[in-house]
Amino acid sequence: MRFDLHSHTTCSDGVLTPAQLVARAAEKGVDVLAITDHDTVAGLADAQRAITAQQLALQLVNGVEISTAWLEFEIHIVGLNINPECPVFLERLASQQQRRYERAEEMARRLEKNKIPDVLSNVLRIADGAALTRTHFARYLVEIGKAPNLNGVFKKYLGRGKTGYVPNNWVALADAVQWILDAGGVPVLAHPLKYNLNGRYLTRLTEAFAAAGGRAIEVASAQITPVQKRQVWDLAKKFGLTASAGSDFHQPTPWNELGKHLYFTDDIVPVWQQWPVFRATQA
Ligand code: AMP
Ligand code: MN
Ligand code: MN
Ligand code: MN
Repeated sequence: MRFDLHSHTTCSDGVLTPAQLVARAAEKGVDVLAITDHDTVAGLADAQRAITAQQLALQLVNGVEISTAWLEFEIHIVGLNINPECPVFLERLASQQQRRYERAEEMARRLEKNKIPDVLSNVLRIADGAALTRTHFARYLVEIGKAPNLNGVFKKYLGRGKTGYVPNNWVALADAVQWILDAGGVPVLAHPLKYNLNGRYLTRLTEAFAAAGGRAIEVASAQITPVQKRQVWDLAKKFGLTASAGSDFHQPTPWNELGKHLYFTDDIVPVWQQWPVFRATQA
């Protein structure tokens, strides 16, 4: 079975609507897809409706990706199988959205001071109601020719320490893990190699995540090498975590696709090992 447990829609910074995303996932042979938008669950109902209406052979996992603070780092925690109707959880996500909005205002102020015109209104236009992310800023800056592509904008304006970078007061990592547990979900440490932590800090992070109640870590992702996969799985085992797999798909590109390159070797224990959808195929 093909699992892809990390993806984005137009409800945050993806370019496909929830309906387009599930259609593409089914077309690419994904059997189980988690939609994990940034601090929002707004796309899940539409996605499920589209699956039902189009009778797609795809199981949807209700997910989310929460931005958190750990030491001075921004760490992303994915929640899988959360209850998207849990009222407390929705309130908590709303507090993150408020932080996103306030950060966007401050980012816009800083960029406008640096002679970039009308940032906030354009970012709101581009986001069109989605959770406000730095990607929306990046799209605007590409649109007005400040950089040739999104990565260029991050390098020049939005990355840590750059003009438009505003450190945020995200929920603490341990609290976000608890939010996910309270919503009935499984907390997953997302893309552990993307934080540029050295080995010691990565171990400390994984330890803190596991101590807070974290359960799995993303071992398979689009560009990870077999050696890195092994390193992350060794780390997972050390702290009693299972392994997740996710493309972190935002848009079709030559280097990333839904469900692609997410293979596990036989010794890796997947986060879905006990899920009914998987057990049914093993029986
Ligand atoms: P935010 O959560 O608003 O801080 O935005 C983070 C998002 O920006 C990530 O989820 C990525 O989708 C995107 N992002 C971060 N770094 C880059 C980069 N170098 N190039 C393109 N997109 C990036
Ligand atoms: Mn993103
Ligand atoms: Mn992320
Ligand atoms: Mn993501």
